[in-house]
Amino acid sequence: MMNLVALILKKLLPMRRALYNIPQMMQFMTERFGAYPFDAYGVALLPVSTGWALETQTLSTYGADGADEAEVFHELMHEWFGNSVSPATWQDVWLNEGFATYFQWLWQEETEGRPAFDATVQQAYAGLVSRRVGPVLPQQPAGMFTAATYQRGACTLLSLIYISEPTRLLSIPYAVLCLKKK
Ligand SMILES: [Zn+2]
Repeated sequence: MMNLVALILKKLLPMRRALYNIPQMMQFMTERFGAYPFDAYGVALLPVSTGWALETQTLSTYGADGADEAEVFHELMHEWFGNSVSPATWQDVWLNEGFATYFQWLWQEETEGRPAFDATVQQAYAGLVSRRVGPVLPQQPAGMFTAATYQRGACTLLSLIYISEPTRLLSIPYAVLCLKKK
């Protein structure tokens, strides 16, 4: 039992700062997308390794390996993009993952500065190019949760910003729907 407790503490202690920062993350999101869309928010930590984190309405679930700050932000972001407003079909899941990933990068810019943001974007873009990652719309179910929907989805949003005014990002119908939830 002591070994199990020690193992869990070792895995989860690095996650403590990220969990502590959830109120600041919520403030960051609220300023951009309106009030938190639900009445409660919680985090569940499973005693087994999962290899994934899962966002369900009002609850993010992590395995025994814990998560870093970027993952904690990403799952919380899904309360707005994914849980408050959901795509009509799973083929559009890149809207969930692209928005969550892009704003996860913006949180990194907020906390670590613009050079960190630029490095993350450049690394993501280089990975997409070197692996010849396909379009954001998955052609089959196995492609739903891949770099195509996450990193390429985020880069797609970034591209839209580059070709328009930054504030026009909010004119994307999906974002407008989310804003109407205020
Ligand atoms: Zn996600």
